[in-house]
Amino acid sequence: MLRPSIVVEGARQNNLKGITVQVPVGAVTAVTGVAGAGKSSLAFEVLYAEGYRRYVETFSPYARQFLERLDRPKAERIEGVLPSIAIDQTAPVRTSRSTVGTMTSVADYLRGLFARSSTLHCRDCGGPVHRASPSSIFEALLAAGEGRQALLCFRARVGKAKPEAIRDLFAQSGFHRVLEEGKPVRLDEAALEAVDGELTVVLDRLSLARGGRQRIVDSLESALRFGKGHVELHVDGVEEPLKFSEQLRCARCGIDYSEPIPALFSFNNPVGACEACKGFGRTIDIDPDLVVPDARMTVAEGCIKPLQSPSYYECQEDLLRFLKRRGLRANVPWRDLDEATRRLIWRGEPGDPRDYQTRWYGVDGFFRWLEGRTYKMHVRILLSRYRRYLPCRDCGGARLKPEALLFRLAGKTIASVSAMVLPAGRKTRAPGLRRAPP
Ligand SMILES: [Zn+2]
Ligand SMILES: [Zn+2]
Repeated sequence: MLRPSIVVEGARQNNLKGITVQVPVGAVTAVTGVAGAGKSSLAFEVLYAEGYRRYVETFSPYARQFLERLDRPKAERIEGVLPSIAIDQTAPVRTSRSTVGTMTSVADYLRGLFARSSTLHCRDCGGPVHRASPSSIFEALLAAGEGRQALLCFRARVGKAKPEAIRDLFAQSGFHRVLEEGKPVRLDEAALEAVDGELTVVLDRLSLARGGRQRIVDSLESALRFGKGHVELHVDGVEEPLKFSEQLRCARCGIDYSEPIPALFSFNNPVGACEACKGFGRTIDIDPDLVVPDARMTVAEGCIKPLQSPSYYECQEDLLRFLKRRGLRANVPWRDLDEATRRLIWRGEPGDPRDYQTRWYGVDGFFRWLEGRTYKMHVRILLSRYRRYLPCRDCGGARLKPEALLFRLAGKTIASVSAMVLPAGRKTRAPGLRRAPP
């Protein structure tokens, strides 16, 4: 079976001289040649342009007007093209933050999709957090007490206003009852003593029946408006009021969440970028495996490599003195030392860093001291030998703040969706590889 390929016949774009080529699909193809041979014309103005043009044609005429149009390439025949993306060498950004996703704007769409359609999972209980809507509240009410009566209430902030002022204000707004000690009380009989600067206003009495849907939904809409997105319902015979919120709030844990915006899902934006690694996903750190490259060696034999150079041999002696003082053995292979001893050697003894003659400052302290002397070239070189990029401890390489990773689409965070691109690409390539070469 032939491997599918893109066929271009008689291409005369720019300086191409009626060339005919076949480009295999599902393989990496490099176009090489001397300057001016027309490599870019073939790649961008023929292959990419035709792929893009046909992709755009799949949209409605209305949608097409918003998309950039490319001219039809000059060629006799082009077959087998697929929707295409192009990344050219003069891309405006060339930073270590760029990925194929960010450079092709696929990432932009993905962020928009997450901001719109993802589901928040509570950081405490892990359960999904849904915004309440009048119709979802209606269904919840029927489930809680169909056939019963309920008081539809909202909390009004009144601050330290005097009861007379509140009475006037409420009457003008068309509110006639407040909830006091769990019971609706008429305004002229109510004490109107605010609790934490708030009063509970009774907006309506509802009969919870499916037939009353429209009226109940209308009332809920008003209550949500007056209550700034929050309502509470006191259903007869149900002890605790049922609370609903249009905002992102976990009803189980009472935690409020802010609305997701596309920037929250961007590691290039301070709103979303992990604070520890600034959105790089990696931090540069001293790598313990480089500091102790051979764990079969003992401290006395010099298993801690940076302390063995002649310039820092005093530090090795400090370490040996410390072990002796503490009654710890220096002639045990590093890997056989117990965890507590290794940690003590690494972190050092607590105390003032200036007491380096009587206190072991630790391997950590040694590196901290070096980091304060990076104006010296040889110190920078030494440090670079023991530093390595390690996955960020805060985000585990996801590059985003924990808040961003609470949002999931089809069970996946934006970080795992972004990471999916590679394996999926591999999967689509595999069948092609099994085919016999043409
Ligand atoms: Zn929760
Ligand atoms: Zn991070």
